[in-house]
Amino acid sequence: MAEVKDVYTFSDLKDWAGATSGLEKPARLSVFGDPVEHSRSPQMHNPGLVAAGIDCEYVRLHILPDELKEALELLKQADFVGTNVTIPHKGGVYDAVDDMTEVARRIGAVNTVAVDGDQLVGHNTDAPGLKRAIREEFSMDLTDLRIMIVGAGGGAGKAASVQCAMDQCERLVLVNRTVEKAEVLAKELEDLMTDPEKLEGPAERLVAIPWEVKAMEHELDQIDLIINATSIGMKRTDPEVVPAHLIAPHHLIYDMVYAPARTRLMADAGAAGARAANGLSMLLWQGALSFEFWFNQDAPVEAMRKGLMESL
Ligand code: NAP
Repeated sequence: MAEVKDVYTFSDLKDWAGATSGLEKPARLSVFGDPVEHSRSPQMHNPGLVAAGIDCEYVRLHILPDELKEALELLKQADFVGTNVTIPHKGGVYDAVDDMTEVARRIGAVNTVAVDGDQLVGHNTDAPGLKRAIREEFSMDLTDLRIMIVGAGGGAGKAASVQCAMDQCERLVLVNRTVEKAEVLAKELEDLMTDPEKLEGPAERLVAIPWEVKAMEHELDQIDLIINATSIGMKRTDPEVVPAHLIAPHHLIYDMVYAPARTRLMADAGAAGARAANGLSMLLWQGALSFEFWFNQDAPVEAMRKGLMESL
């Protein structure tokens, strides 16, 4: 009987039945990452699998970038249902899968893979995960909102931007420190933001601006939802994502950062009388949507939520 590990490796994957013989259930789901030991996905998914009565374990796999392609192939032999992938593999997996969903194709990144016979099918659940999180936190749909995404040029920001555009949100303002990235993205999304039912013309509905006070100030009175998709907010010394004096009571604030649970942006929102939520709900819903993609059934969200909360 092999020892049970917190993190398995590429060489374990080559003899998966042997390497995981110490587990009570067959390990047929995983998260690939480098590093991966910080991932809370097993604590979220395993209670969900138990609640759904699925006889399978979810584990962490430390996979290096040059092992990625072969590791994905090995999943088929090891009888995997699928895997999640995290940093730095979301782009590499995009290039390696046989097929993918429209949202993953638009984003250019995959965070969920399903093994379907000898095919690997990719999906990106960060984007629809954000959509479900906004609905849960604010009882609002993206389609009805005027949205500003700060950090639109990063991976999470692009996923959020694609989802907002696919949902035909009322207005989309893409903000990025390196403004060229936001401008390129705005061009890519132009064809999605052409719903004739929406009041404003395409040029005004989709805007790319630099991460500068004046530029944000100019847009913010025509914005309902502000999403922080930058990596700012995890440290006390981090700068303001949006200057506090620009936040108004009508704004909804969604901070993708969830550690600390109450970020500076959320505190500033509270002081301004605005509603705010952290990124835990997005983390939960991207996991729930991965479950649905793998098993084609509703996810046991409350069991997954409990597991995630207990892991914090
Ligand atoms: P990323 O690809 O590295 O992108 C980082 C983004 O932040 C870029 O837009 C970058 O701008 C901007 N940025 C970084 N430092 C900045 C600074 N000092 N000033 C201004 N802008 C700055 O990272 P990511 O993977 O998209 O992740 C972004 C955040 O989302 C992280 O905090 C991550 O934990 C969180 N996230 C949460 C969830 C969830 O489920 N809640 C899911 C995914 C990600 P430039 O383009 O100019 O560099």
